[in-house]
Amino acid sequence: MRKCSLDNLNAVFNKISEEMMLFVPADTENGAEYRKWEEGVTLSDKLNTNKSPKDFFFPQVENLMEFKVNGKEIEVIDTRSEHEDFVVFGVRACDVKSFDVLDRVFLTEPCDSYYANKREHGLIISMACTKPSETCFCQTFDIDASNPGGDISCFKTESEIYFKANTEKGEKLLAKLSDLTEECDDKEVTKQQEKIKEIMKKLPLAGLSTEKFGGGKTEELFDAPEWEELSSACLGCGTCTFVCPTCQCYDIKDFNTNKGVLRFRCWDSCMYSDFTKMAHGNSRNSQKERFRQRFMHKLVYYPENNDGLFSCVGCGRCLAKCPISMNIVKVMKTIGGKSDE
Ligand code: SF4
Ligand code: SF4
Repeated sequence: MRKCSLDNLNAVFNKISEEMMLFVPADTENGAEYRKWEEGVTLSDKLNTNKSPKDFFFPQVENLMEFKVNGKEIEVIDTRSEHEDFVVFGVRACDVKSFDVLDRVFLTEPCDSYYANKREHGLIISMACTKPSETCFCQTFDIDASNPGGDISCFKTESEIYFKANTEKGEKLLAKLSDLTEECDDKEVTKQQEKIKEIMKKLPLAGLSTEKFGGGKTEELFDAPEWEELSSACLGCGTCTFVCPTCQCYDIKDFNTNKGVLRFRCWDSCMYSDFTKMAHGNSRNSQKERFRQRFMHKLVYYPENNDGLFSCVGCGRCLAKCPISMNIVKVMKTIGGKSDE
């Protein structure tokens, strides 16, 4: 483990950005957003960025390929290129875990080369949460906010920042920072982790349980009468899916550039009325069906197909952002029965 004074953190950022692009959570007038590091950017202490870091690996809009049409001939142009190396700093434990969920979708054969390219070139520096918020419930999914994963884990105290390498990539980067950091023991970090664990136990959502969910629950939960009431006010705005670090649905569209055709993908939402629209019609015609799909996918279908892994990481973004204050916690409490709070 290595550490440096917080006063030296800008120097660490400067050193990293000499080597590769560095993105940090920054305070903006709209809340915390990831920004490319440069002098003048203010590092944010907020727990959640508005949009999660999944954008770095699965961007909201991404060009896939181009076509040139010449009479009856179509030329397919492969626009892929090796991504530059980059670092994403300050990723919280919940968001780090979201990459496990995305990896299982995009890296399982047939592997998504666009996503894989960015995962290969991206390095994640996580940050332990010292002040978890009342909307946090990562522990429901066995995530430890005091001990985040990633290539390097960071722990911030009042005056210092500690770095622990978890992967070969992380070790290589830490070695490059050896002039700016010093070797240290983990006493302060362990003390801080104990404090964080105590705070986690007292959070309002600490008792939220996944017991009633998971693989094999489709029959029991699919026709639950509660879906009707839970979904009745849903606006179908898709905000919950766009801020969610684990939502991974996208649409593919073609755009006529007048010089050819550009094929791109962009995030889609199962909450939208045209999400399942096909030539024959729509297989989900009501907001109740769309709403149920989102939560059944996160809490039942995904774990069923992925060794019990839930596709929610308890980041709390949907709790904070839904305009009608509907969210996965309300669904879990209502469908799964009240938990001790
Ligand atoms: S649950 Fe909330 S955020 Fe999600 S689509 Fe419905 S109204 Fe929008
Ligand atoms: S469902 Fe809500 S709490 Fe769970 S990961 Fe998505 S945004 Fe975060």
